[in-house]
Amino acid sequence: MSRCAIAAGSNLGGRSGHLNAAIDGLNAIGDVVAISSVYETAPIGGPEQGPYLNAVVLIDTARTPIGLLRELLLIERARGRVRHERWGPRTLDLDLILFDRLAVDEPGLTVPHPRMLERRFVLEPLLEVWPDARMPDGAAIAASTESVWTQEIRRIDMVLGDRSRSVDQ
Ligand code: AMP
Repeated sequence: MSRCAIAAGSNLGGRSGHLNAAIDGLNAIGDVVAISSVYETAPIGGPEQGPYLNAVVLIDTARTPIGLLRELLLIERARGRVRHERWGPRTLDLDLILFDRLAVDEPGLTVPHPRMLERRFVLEPLLEVWPDARMPDGAAIAASTESVWTQEIRRIDMVLGDRSRSVDQ
């Protein structure tokens, strides 16, 4: 089994519903071992679009990195994700952030995710659920993140995996 971190984001439609559906989907392909708090963040780049809800989920899975990515794309598609433009709004975006301490560089898959260290909305929830996460070279992720803390993100009073609460539909 490998421990993997998946970053989930949504800024279109019922955002919390999409994130909860992502957790259901992840439960079907591995054991969900931790779910971070939910954060609301302004979009970076791209066209004019609404704010994101972001969270990080840890799963233990027997899938290969490519096999896991394929499943993530299927979960996105099941939530109606259509790829129109890069950085554009999306119902559900799932990124494979870490796959144990493995480095993967293949067409269509780079792990650790190449932009993870630049994004507070990935690092903050990641370190919440996996404080001693490390890069493939052994560097502690917590030690490399100082520059991102000026980015504005807002922790939301909402628990994923608990359908009794929702910030929007
Ligand atoms: P996007 O959803 O716009 O972030 O782009 C998704 C595409 O990026 C997928 O079709 C993957 O082939 C590719 N990709 C490369 N590395 C990763 C990764 N670590 N996690 C998710 N998608 C990745």
